[in-house]
Amino acid sequence: MYIRQLFAQKPCVFSIEVFPPKQTSSFESLQQGLRQMKALNPDFISVTYGAGGSAGGVSTCQVATFLKNELGVEPLAHLICMGSDKEKMTASLDELFAAGIQNVLALRGDRSPYRAPSADFPHASDLAAFIRGQYGSFGISGACYPEGHAEAESLAADIRNLRIKQEAGVSHLATQLFFDNAKFYRFVNMARKEGIDLPISAGVMPIVRKSQIERTVALSSASLPSEFTRMISRYQDDEASLFEAGIDYAVRQLRDLIEGGADGVHLYAMNSPQVAARVYEGIRDLLPGRA
Ligand code: FAD
Repeated sequence: MYIRQLFAQKPCVFSIEVFPPKQTSSFESLQQGLRQMKALNPDFISVTYGAGGSAGGVSTCQVATFLKNELGVEPLAHLICMGSDKEKMTASLDELFAAGIQNVLALRGDRSPYRAPSADFPHASDLAAFIRGQYGSFGISGACYPEGHAEAESLAADIRNLRIKQEAGVSHLATQLFFDNAKFYRFVNMARKEGIDLPISAGVMPIVRKSQIERTVALSSASLPSEFTRMISRYQDDEASLFEAGIDYAVRQLRDLIEGGADGVHLYAMNSPQVAARVYEGIRDLLPGRA
């Protein structure tokens, strides 16, 4: 099933993002977690690119294949331009195609001293155009940024570049994580005015562990509403309370997004079936056909 079709069928599409483990020995534990996530009936599960492949870990394709062929859950396989070229990308796409994967998320990838920028694909839109030209059968998703991409000169300029992504063949967008829904609504309004009519999944990450505050929150350029910073300063040294408060914040954020008309909600669950299940329990009455 193409992801675009899911949006045509449902008022709000529910998806989860996972990442492949760095160690092959951890694949079994991820598989167990994915079996538990399947019970939450996600419309699709996206699988990041970066940890596996050349690093010797589990690859994106392996996780996507497990989802599709063992669990019968629709996967969205991430692909990045960085460090790749037409030949390597063709090999990756051939592998995904042979495994029956129908949906890919075309990304540029973050700049890194360990990965050369791609001469063949300077932007995600170049990759999307390549995939559409070579493999008409893949549904292509793309990334977007409610507060603007860090390298863009402004949010308006970043949204203008999204038009290029849409014209290159992307048929669905998923956002970077954010904590302030007002930023998302403003972004969607601006994108619609710019002629971007693709379904947009709103990305939400529950902050339930101190390590996430140190890594994700500190590194993300997402604005932090005062309610969020109060929660962090109050509970950061109390593991159990932070978990509960982080789930509660994410559930309230997601309920507002669903009621506010988001096309889809995308849960950055950090491979935790417990987090995914707790959040799902808090929003399932608002998701179609699940009450
Ligand atoms: P692009 O769309 O190429 O945009 C990058 C910058 O270039 C932006 O400032 C944009 O405005 C500008 N731009 C875009 N197109 C053009 C153009 N044609 N001409 C001029 N300027 C242009 N990273 C990983 O390594 N692995 C993952 O699995 C992964 N998954 C992600 C999932 C989601 C939902 C999101 C939001 C991000 C993910 N990332 C991942 C991070 C992503 O790779 C980085 O944010 C990266 O810096 C930008 O990727 P992009 O696809 O948005 O790039």
